[in-house]
Amino acid sequence: MTIKQNVTQIQQRIQYYTAQAQRQQSAVKLLAVSKTKTVEDIYQAYQAGQTTFGENYVQEGIDKIAYFQQQNIELEWHFIGPLQSNKTRLVAEHFDWMQTLDRIKIADRLNEQRPYYKAPLNVLIQINISDENSKSGITPNDMLALATHIQNLPHLRLRGLMAIPAPTDDLQQQEQAFNAMNSLFIALQQALPEAQIDTLSMGMTDDMASAIKCGSTMVRIGTAIFGAREYHK
Ligand SMILES: *Cc1c(COP(=O)(O)O)cnc(C)c1O
Repeated sequence: MTIKQNVTQIQQRIQYYTAQAQRQQSAVKLLAVSKTKTVEDIYQAYQAGQTTFGENYVQEGIDKIAYFQQQNIELEWHFIGPLQSNKTRLVAEHFDWMQTLDRIKIADRLNEQRPYYKAPLNVLIQINISDENSKSGITPNDMLALATHIQNLPHLRLRGLMAIPAPTDDLQQQEQAFNAMNSLFIALQQALPEAQIDTLSMGMTDDMASAIKCGSTMVRIGTAIFGAREYHK
């Protein structure tokens, strides 16, 4: 199958799982995760109608962003990797979304460094929902304090939550983590009724069905679109 066909097939699977969960047809967006993949690969996905892409490495991401700007192709770019504080400026200047926000210090830097002529940077708070080995994400208990802080930063727009649960084939365990995320998402919406909290980013190639069943509004799919990755970093 080509990348173009893969995008179409994933869109169909999203529709299927969304219908099964009796959710609205447009409830779940597809983020194509293009880390380690070429601009030619991304272009093929674009030809299938895909316009939102996720990148994990800052420099690789901004090279691709620059390439498509030169081609006059307008895409939406999400930063989804771990971010060191010395690289916040590049994310603030070039990306549309930052999905892995888990520290006040990073939030403050992104807010200061977001160019005034651009729309506020959309951000998601990353929650460490089940992965004890991961250093990324905050605990559920810390969510509201960070959310309230972000609400006061004019150049950031808090849109919701993101999680990367510990990988497991056990559907019950998958659903446990995703249901916990959905409860936090609802709690956040209730705590900040004025904010535009509309995004719950969860679900990857191997667990997208459970994620959609449990309320995901954005699945982040790499392998099922672009094939396996060869790591060069
Ligand atoms: C790589 C990555 C994905 C995509 O994973 P696949 O299993 O290839 O679909 C999604 N989210 C994040 C944060 C990633 O780093």
